[in-house]
Formats: sequence, structure tokens, C-alpha cells
Amino acid sequence: MMSKILKDGTVLSFDKATHSIKVLPRASILIVDDRITAIEDNSSDLPAPPETEVINVAGKIVSPSFVNTHVHMWQSVYRTLGPNVILSQYFSWVSQYSEAANAAFTPDDVYISSLEGYIEGLNGGVTSYVEHAHNNWSALVMRSGYRAAVDGGARVWWCYDIAPRLDFSVDEQWDIYDTIVQKVSSRVLPGLSLDGLGSSILNGDGTGLDFIREKTAKLNLQALSMHHLGGPWPQGNTSPTRVCAENDLHSTGLPIIFSHAPFLTKSDMQILRQHDLFVSITPESECHYGHGQNTGHLISDQACLGVDTTWTFSGDMLSQARLWLQLVRLRNYTKTLDAGLLPNANPMAVEQAFLLATRQGGRALRRDDIGVITVGAKADLVVFNGDGPNMLGWSDPVAAVILHAHPGDVEHVLVDGEWRKRDFQLVNLSQPWEELRSQFVEAARRIQPQLATPPPLRDRLWGVGEFGDVECASTLRQ
Ligand SMILES: [Zn+2]
Repeated sequence: MMSKILKDGTVLSFDKATHSIKVLPRASILIVDDRITAIEDNSSDLPAPPETEVINVAGKIVSPSFVNTHVHMWQSVYRTLGPNVILSQYFSWVSQYSEAANAAFTPDDVYISSLEGYIEGLNGGVTSYVEHAHNNWSALVMRSGYRAAVDGGARVWWCYDIAPRLDFSVDEQWDIYDTIVQKVSSRVLPGLSLDGLGSSILNGDGTGLDFIREKTAKLNLQALSMHHLGGPWPQGNTSPTRVCAENDLHSTGLPIIFSHAPFLTKSDMQILRQHDLFVSITPESECHYGHGQNTGHLISDQACLGVDTTWTFSGDMLSQARLWLQLVRLRNYTKTLDAGLLPNANPMAVEQAFLLATRQGGRALRRDDIGVITVGAKADLVVFNGDGPNMLGWSDPVAAVILHAHPGDVEHVLVDGEWRKRDFQLVNLSQPWEELRSQFVEAARRIQPQLATPPPLRDRLWGVGEFGDVECASTLRQ
């Protein structure tokens, strides 16, 4: 692969000493193979190999690409099917446990749906994903989801959710997982999601730890992930307290990401800090479905951001970072206002939102080379054009990205130093976009009518969770 220089851009580099963004107003980046190997104010000072390609990015913003730490890509093809869905409808309607969903998707559908999801993200500068892969109802859909992660061109921690299924036993799932992860892809890293496994291995007797250690050694696992809700939601086995204090899974040394985690206890927060583990806040999802997010604003130091279900809302991280920033501001302002006082400070800085969408994702995965621009980091980069009517006139590049940019402003995207988007066009796709597009649309048109109507809510969620009335908005004149 030809070395590259991104020449004379405004570079959002990471200062390791202060853990903050250091803006280099005019700097050039040398990329050799998959890494950033030098950053200099003057491009002629870069030790560039002969035949290095030079890309002029003067006047543009060079940013680390974004890290989406929670997503289920197989569902992308449902896009716009659930604009007003609530979480308690989701499970029996469109999730991996919906019989109608299992019947509607062919393995090829899972493939094209997942592939398009990764491409949506890449188009908006998202290059790293923690995939909570719960496409686990048959061997074929399991394999096709993995194949899409490999072909998608992004960096994926593929955390497969092994779960007891009627026609696809846990033993079969392990056997297939063993074989598929042997076909090593440098960009798709094996992990596990513990939603399905949790109830059988997290018994507080030490066997869960031994089990995960054995699997880590055998499969070279790189991450663990799981949903966690708490609060009024029916309790599972996946709180940080349960997973770590009672089952010691942090002793594996693996990164552990708790997705959503909207009702953390004091003990949960202490455990996250003590063991340097992370929650993945998915702001738009938690607003949309009603998970709630009562404690995320208290744990920014051990938090990163994710999307969750790309079919119900934005699949880019700019939207998530912006929404989360303003939600935290609103929540904290409201506390002061409710006390009858006027806010005397802004509760969250725009740079913190930027770091949550970039560096914190790398931290969550224990990767110092992801989500940052430093010498030695992965060459996973985004170039914002900055010349569109929404960004024009920027002087603070972090504010320009977090408060004003959208995926249409992303001019270039690189993963491992390879082009994924260039001059506003997706490039190096595993198949031509026109072909991919028509397969995706065909699947969407066929699958969505089969799931057109959500089933009615039962009396209780899973026989346990009690429902309450929700105050609903009206746009009719009263
Ligand atoms: Zn999820």
C-alpha cells in the first residue's frame, strides 16, 4: 500500500499528557501502512518514503474517526419500521427472539443488512464498532453476519451472543464460533456478548471466570459486552456488581462494556472505576425506546457512546455525541433551575462530547491506538470538508465537528490507512454500491411488510416488569 501524507490540515491530535485534544492549526500527517508514523507542522519535515501519495487537506479538519461501542447491524434493513416503538414492544416484535423476524430473514438478508449498516457508519466517519451480534437463531445467519463484518471494511469487535435456541444448540454455536474466528481478519476481532450466556455462567461460584478464561485463551477474545438496564427493568445477571464483584470477570483482563446501563448503583459506578470498565451510552436509543438514562451523566469518566439499532434513528456518531452533550447540559441546568437559581456555568464542554465519541471508545477497548491522532496510532481518520453552509466560518474545529457537522461533510475516511471514502464517495466496497443498494432495498421491501404491526403489549414485560402510563404529547389545538 502506498504511503500517504495528509498535508496542511487542521489536525485534532490527542495530547497524552493532559488527555485532551490538541489542535494543530496547520499540520501534516504521514501514514505508512496502517499507522500514523509522523506528524509535523511542515510537511517537508516528514520522513516520507519515495512515491508517497500527497493529499492536500488545507482548510479542512482532520479528526480521529469515531468509535461506536454498541450496535446490532443485522437489523439495518428494518429502517423506519419503528419510528414510535417502545422497548417492551421491540423484543417480541423485531428482535432475535421474534419468530416473525427469524422467518423473514434469509442468511443473505442478514448479510446485506449488516453490510449496509457498516457502510452507513463509514460514510459518516465511524470506523470502529463493538457489534453485539445477536443474529443467533441459525448457523447460516450467524455465519453471514460475521462475513458482513469482515466485508464491511470497518474495524469490528464482533461480540457474538451465544444463547440457547430451539433449533441451534449452544454447543453448535461454540463449534461454529471456533471455526469462523480461525479465519483471522486483522480488522474483525472476536468477542462475546453475555446476554444469553450470563444466566448459565454467572453463578457467583467462580466457574464463570474459569469458563471465560478458557474461552479467551482458545478464541483469543478481545472484548466482552452485554446489555444492562437495572432500575424498574426486570433484573438480569449483567450489572457491573454482578459481573465483577460477584463473578470476578474483570480478572480476565478483558475490556468489558455494559451497554445502556441507565440505572447504575453506587456500587456499579465504583466497580467501573476500580477496574477501568466502561458503559456504552446510546443516547438516541435510550430516548427513543424509553430505556431511560438516569446515571450516564455521573460516569462520563468511564463512558463511551454507541448507536444500538441503526434502523430506528441516526447511525452516525456525530448525532449521538451532539444529543448526549445537550441532554447532559439540560439535565444539569434543570437541577439548578428547579432550585430557583440561574445556571452560572455550562455543565459539559464540547470537547468532552468529542472525546466520548472517539478516545473513550478506544479506552473502553483498552486500545491506545484507536480514537486518537498520535504517532503510532492506527490510521483511522476522517477529513471534514468544512466548506459547506453549515460549517463555513469555523474557527474552533472541535465545535465545528460536534455542533455543526453531519455525515455529508465527511470528505475522506481511512481505515488502517486504506480509503473507505474519498472525495465524498464511498470507495473500495466489497461489491458495487448499485448492486448492494438494490439487494438491500429488495430485502427491506420484502421484510418490512412481514413485520408491519407490533404485537400488543402483554400485561407485564417477561411476566415481571410492571407498566405505567406515559404522558403523551398532543399537537392538536386544545
Ligand atoms: Zn442493544
